[in-house]
Amino acid sequence: MAEFVKDLMAQVQAKNPGEPEFYQAVSEVATSLSLVLEKNPIYRKEKIIERIIEPERVILFRVPWVDDKGEVQINRGFRIEMNSAIGPYKGGLRFHPSVNLGILKFLAFEQVFKNSLTTLPMGGGKGGSDFDPKGKSDSEVMRFCQSFMNELFRHIGSNTDVPAGDIGVGGREIGYLFGQYKKLRNEFTGVLTGKGLNWGGSLIRPEATGYGAVYFAAEMLKTRNETLENKNCLVSGSGNVAQYTVEKILDLGGKVLTLSDSNGYIYDEAGIDREKLKYVMELKNELRGRIKEYADKFKSAVYTTIDPNSIFNPLWNHKADCAFPSATQNEINGVDATNLLRNGVYVISEGANMPSTIEAINQFVDSKILYGPGKAANAGGVATSGLEMAQNSMRFGWTREEVDNRLHMIMQNIHKTCTDTSERYGTPGNYVNGANIGGFVKVADAMIDQGIV
Ligand code: NDP
Repeated sequence: MAEFVKDLMAQVQAKNPGEPEFYQAVSEVATSLSLVLEKNPIYRKEKIIERIIEPERVILFRVPWVDDKGEVQINRGFRIEMNSAIGPYKGGLRFHPSVNLGILKFLAFEQVFKNSLTTLPMGGGKGGSDFDPKGKSDSEVMRFCQSFMNELFRHIGSNTDVPAGDIGVGGREIGYLFGQYKKLRNEFTGVLTGKGLNWGGSLIRPEATGYGAVYFAAEMLKTRNETLENKNCLVSGSGNVAQYTVEKILDLGGKVLTLSDSNGYIYDEAGIDREKLKYVMELKNELRGRIKEYADKFKSAVYTTIDPNSIFNPLWNHKADCAFPSATQNEINGVDATNLLRNGVYVISEGANMPSTIEAINQFVDSKILYGPGKAANAGGVATSGLEMAQNSMRFGWTREEVDNRLHMIMQNIHKTCTDTSERYGTPGNYVNGANIGGFVKVADAMIDQGIV
């Protein structure tokens, strides 16, 4: 079977030049799936793996807009419609200068398995643009979003493809995108999730990814009869996922020591309490400032610049019990993994998508720590987007408690799927195999039922 994975990866690389993140995501999943293929030859016969790595549709488009100085700017827009075997395409939009086809394909591919794990009827997709919202005025962001939607609107719909937010796309961007969609289509439907509360959004959607990653960590700890109470936690990022990860860790009695952005990180030995978190939310969501300013305000904190060319990230080199990577892909490499393990970290719950390189993952799995990969640990966001879609269809809204209870239950179920599946395939405690196989089987069976399409 190792031969099958090797041949598959050779084909993937030949067919998709210059997409290292996509190879990484496929290779991780294919390695886990070799266990399933041995037991179920039908998947080989039906060429399910070969089909599942090929997007059903890729849309690439020009996004022209005019900046505040009157200059014409051109960005590139994408939507990857990866797999619709179990429901309409569903997955976020990312606005970040690093966005390219390979990154969005890796994200769309991961999304297929993640969405399946939630048990809700959602296929997988992802999209975005190389537009950088940093330093842009609200009007520039609005004009960009309108131009982006001028093309995207013809490809999406509440039963076809339902985008949401991701890096650089929060409530403000979803608002502008929804406004333009509504104007072009002349209809008010649940075509995007992460909407404002008074125009179709769901309570708890902004909190869901972070809360879910912490619920997942709590479930993993439960297998060792432990809780998050008094645990020291490292959190990276300071955006949507990081903020609500901190909030839920505090709810469950843990202590948070770090936060970061792409320039650097703060280490607060006194811990980031609720008041400091409130400051971070205002700094990041309203003032759109940098995390460095935290250390100017709170003297218990030290700010350190992160050198993107360094061979390790100093944020992951502190004594702690738990780590919640919540910034971006490949933010934990092999050296960082060694540092985390040496510093006593034994719980990792990934809020970000694919934040650990394959070398890092291998170290976590080999050392038998509680390692929750992103496609399981951060599925709470898309699960709550699924709940937003359900509420939109019913034209009815659940209370905060109802949505939070459902989210909590979904995270517990995903955890159970991972542990049961990894055990069934002879690798107990391996959440990577549990998530990859648990997510795959449902999609693969649906693809077989629906024929060669
Ligand atoms: P935000 O844009 O709200 O925040 C992103 C954070 O990560 C910012 O602090 C940003 O810093 C930092 N960051 C982004 N790119 C880099 C980089 N290249 N190097 C270092 N830091 C970086 O995004 P989200 O919080 O929504 O997303 C964070 C992660 O969680 C992503 O991997 C996303 O795919 C994943 N995710 C998000 C979900 C959601 O519901 N939003 C759902 C599931 C997963 P800076 O401001 O300097 O750019």
